[in-house]
Formats: sequence, C-alpha cells, structure tokens
Amino acid sequence: MSPSKARRGERPDYGWVISFGCKETGELKRLKVDTDPSADTSPIDVPCPCGEVHRVTVSPYRRRRAADEPFDLEVKSLDELRGG
Ligand SMILES: [Zn+2]
Repeated sequence: MSPSKARRGERPDYGWVISFGCKETGELKRLKVDTDPSADTSPIDVPCPCGEVHRVTVSPYRRRRAADEPFDLEVKSLDELRGG
C-alpha cells in the first residue's frame, strides 16, 4: 500500500537543446529550440555568440531541455537557422 504522492500528469515542456562545439573558443554551446527539431535534421547555421556562424548537424545532439538548464541562444524553430 504505497500512497501515491505525486500525480504524473503531463510534463512541462522546456524545449529542446542542441549542443554544438564552438571552434573559436573551444567551448560547448547550447542552442535552445522550442519545437521538436527531429522533423528536419538537415544542418543548421548557428550564429554563435563568438561572432562566427557554425554549421551544426542536428540529429545526434538534440535532447530534451531540463527546466533550469542554461543556454547560449534560442530560436523557436530551426527553420530560422536555415536561410537557404
Ligand atoms: Zn562560436
């Protein structure tokens, strides 16, 4: 008889995080995206805080973002980073 202390409802959505390496600073940066990036895994061009634009491959690096996880830049959709 274990009392169920917490109801497991829907989890809050904190978006997704795509990590990418910054060649200029040698640091790992985080890009937050609101919509699930798995719909389109073609490369994106990320305007890095270092001033350069880095080409980033999407699929292997995406994951759910934790509630309090910091990020370096943010977009609603990866389409914003595919200028064409
Ligand atoms: Zn950079």
